[in-house]
Amino acid sequence: MKHTFSSILILALFGATTQRVHAQQVFSNNKYPLTDFRMPLDIRPPALAGSFGELRSNHFHSGADFRTNQREGYPVYAVADGYISRLRVQNSGFGLALYLVHPNGYTTVYGHLQRFAPKVAREVKALQYSKKSYELDEFPKADLLPVRKGEVIAYSGNTGGSGGPHLHFEVRDSKTEETINPQLFGIDIPDNIPPVLSALYVYRLNGKPFNESTPKQYFQLSGGVGNYKLNQVNTIRLSGEVGFGIITTDKHNGASGTNGVYSIQLFLDDVPVYTSSLERFSFANSKGINSHIDYPTYLNQRRSIQKSFVDPGNPLKIYSNVANNGRIVFDDGRLHRLKYLITDAKGNQTTLQFNVQASDENFVEQPPAEDGRQFSWRNKNELNTSDVRITVPKGSLYDDISFSYKVLPRLPKGAYSAVHQVHNRYTPLHTGFELAIRADSSLYPLREKALIVSTGGASQGGVFENGFVKASPRNFGSFYIAVDTIAPRIAPVNIAEGKSMSGVARISFKISDNLSGIKSFNGYIDGKWVLFEFDTKTASLWYRFDENVTPGKHTLELAVADMKDNVRRYRVNFSR
Ligand SMILES: [Zn+2]
Repeated sequence: MKHTFSSILILALFGATTQRVHAQQVFSNNKYPLTDFRMPLDIRPPALAGSFGELRSNHFHSGADFRTNQREGYPVYAVADGYISRLRVQNSGFGLALYLVHPNGYTTVYGHLQRFAPKVAREVKALQYSKKSYELDEFPKADLLPVRKGEVIAYSGNTGGSGGPHLHFEVRDSKTEETINPQLFGIDIPDNIPPVLSALYVYRLNGKPFNESTPKQYFQLSGGVGNYKLNQVNTIRLSGEVGFGIITTDKHNGASGTNGVYSIQLFLDDVPVYTSSLERFSFANSKGINSHIDYPTYLNQRRSIQKSFVDPGNPLKIYSNVANNGRIVFDDGRLHRLKYLITDAKGNQTTLQFNVQASDENFVEQPPAEDGRQFSWRNKNELNTSDVRITVPKGSLYDDISFSYKVLPRLPKGAYSAVHQVHNRYTPLHTGFELAIRADSSLYPLREKALIVSTGGASQGGVFENGFVKASPRNFGSFYIAVDTIAPRIAPVNIAEGKSMSGVARISFKISDNLSGIKSFNGYIDGKWVLFEFDTKTASLWYRFDENVTPGKHTLELAVADMKDNVRRYRVNFSR
C-alpha cells in the first residue's frame, strides 16, 4: 500500500479537475456538507487564533478559535437553519455558550460569548431566576428557540476560560457528539503557508514502555518553507527499537500566532508506518493528548513533541497506518530512508527527509523490569495497605508501569495523615485514580471539613468515610489529608455601608477561597434572590441593576460557600 495517502493528495491538489478539492477526501471517506454552513462571524478575512486539534494542556482544542480583533461585541450568526438545543452558562469553561442543532445531522457550538441575542437572553435570565442559579445547562425543545441561517444569536466575547476576546466555534456530529474539524465543512480560512517543523527526536525504546527515563536524542533541523532536512548530518546511525517524535506547528496567512497541523505521516522506505490526522475526536478521548505527546518533556519544558509511536492504552482514534505501534527496529545493517509528511487543514504540506543506517546487531527484546510493582494498562490495578488504598481503574494507564509508592518522612503543617507518594507525576492518567488515606484520630472533630491535598497545595476534594478520606486525583503525586475550616473571602469593589449606588450599572465584588474552592454564591436584595454573575478567571462577582431595584433604600445580603460548606456572609445597606 505504498504511496496511498501521498498519491491521492497529489492527485487531489494538482489533478486535472479545476474544482477546489477539500482535505477530507485526502484523509477519510467521510463526506461532510461543504456549502450548508456560512461563517459564524462577518469579520473579513477570517483568521484563527487556534485551530481544531491544536495541542493544549490536557486536551486537543475542540474547535476553531476565530479572531475578533482583540475586541468583544461582534455579531455571531447562526451558520445554518436549526434551533437552539442547549443554553449554557459556566463560571469558567465556555462561559456563555449556545448549541444549535441543524437538520443536516450536525450541531454547532459558539463559546465565550459576551451576551446572547435579546430573545435568547430573556429565556436565559428567566431560567436563572427560576433555578436561582447563575450557572445553567438547559436543553430547550426544538420549537422554543428556532433560528434561521444568518440570524444574530449572540455577540462575541471573552467569558469563561478564554484568554482574550475570540469566538470558539465547533461542529459536532449530533448523534455521537464527536467534534469535527470545522475546516472540513467549507469554513474557508486563508492559508497557503506549509507547516513549520522545529525539531526531530529519537527515542531509544528497545521494547520497553515509553516513560520519563526513555533515552532521547534531539536533532536540529535546517531548511524551511515546506522542506526540511537534518542540520549538518544526512544519516543517523541507529540500533535496536526506536520511536521518532517531532515538534510541528502551522501558520496561517496574515496571522502572527501558531496553530496546529492537520496530519502527521511517517514513512519508512516509502511505506507508511504512522499516520495521525485530526479529522474528529470524542471528548472522552481528548485527555489522550498526554499519551500522544512526550508528556514528561511537556511537564519539564512546556514543549509539545508529538510522538510517532502509539502507547498501547491510547484510546484516541486519530491514528491509521500504524505498524508495530510506530516502533521501528533497526537491525538489518541497511540504509533506510525516513520521511515525515506534515499537512495542514488546507492541504499545504511539509516534508522532512533523512536516512538511518541500521546496525547489524540482532535486536533482542529485554524482559520487563523487575523493580517495583507492575501495573498493567489492560487491567484495574490496586495497592492496599493499612494506611492507604490506591485504585487505578482500567482505562486510566496508557502503558504498563513499574509502580512506586512510599510514605514520605516529613509532615507538612496542618496535615492529618502521613504524606503518601503515589508513583510520579510524569505518568499521565486518562481518568485519574481513586485514593483513600487513613486519617489521624485528631481529625475526628473536623472530619466534615477534611479533604486531600497534593504537596503542591492543590485541593483534590474528598469525603471522610470509616476512618479514611477518599478523593479521585487526576494525576499521580504526593498527597495528605488537610482541612478547610476557613470561609471564602468577600471583598466589595464599589459598595460600602449607606452608599448611594445611583448612576452605577453594577454592584461588584471579588471573591476567593483559600483551599477547597467556591461552591456557591447567592445574593438577596430586600430578601429576594437576585442574579449575581461570576467569572472564575478574574474572581469577579457582580449584580447588574435591573427591575429588581427601584429608587430608594435597599439591603443587600451575599452568602458565598466553599466546597466544605464554610459560608461567608456580607450585608450592606445602599440607596439607588
Ligand atoms: Zn477555543
